Amino acid sequence: MENKKSDEFFFYEAALVKKTDLFRDCKNIVVGCGNLNADIMFVGEAPGKNEDETGVPFCGLAGKNLDKLLERVNLNRNDIYIANILKCRPPQNRDPLPDEIRAHTPWLLKQIREIKPKIICSLGNYSTKFFLAGTDIDKMNSQPGITQVHGKIQNIKIDGMKIKLIPLFHPAAIIYKRDLEKLWLDDMEIVKREINNI
Ligand code: URA
Repeated sequence: MENKKSDEFFFYEAALVKKTDLFRDCKNIVVGCGNLNADIMFVGEAPGKNEDETGVPFCGLAGKNLDKLLERVNLNRNDIYIANILKCRPPQNRDPLPDEIRAHTPWLLKQIREIKPKIICSLGNYSTKFFLAGTDIDKMNSQPGITQVHGKIQNIKIDGMKIKLIPLFHPAAIIYKRDLEKLWLDDMEIVKREINNI
């Protein structure tokens, strides 16, 4: 597969992000990491403390759990690209605000346009609702929550690209509610089936 893509592409959307208060208060912009040619992209919510300090997504407790869960289905970070709805850490890890999502997601959409994933696994409520709302932030509130839609494949379109959205529980939620792990692994069987069908 050709590998002409470069992280430099992604810095064009930084201007919007830099206008938000979140940028003023954060240590690092967390762009994303992984395989720029991956067919599968994971999208989380926002960087936490460890991610803010390192600039690497999912490098803290939730990330360690994600790695463990991926390993159980024979995947690793080289198989996927991973990014977040927000590029900067919200203070005290509070929930993202609509205006922040509005300012930060054009960069995520640019990443999706460059990477062209066939499958997006949305991790948790915010990411799932963003995609289910057709990326219209005003429609996010009226979308079903992750408990209702996890593991259910949704056919979405982003800029004309047909993508399979597979909502998954957030790996941080699984740390505290261990019974979600079984559901996550069942959902990942669906993800793996879809990968094999590409
Ligand atoms: N939680 C997220 O949603 N993203 C991260 O990068 C880390 C924790």
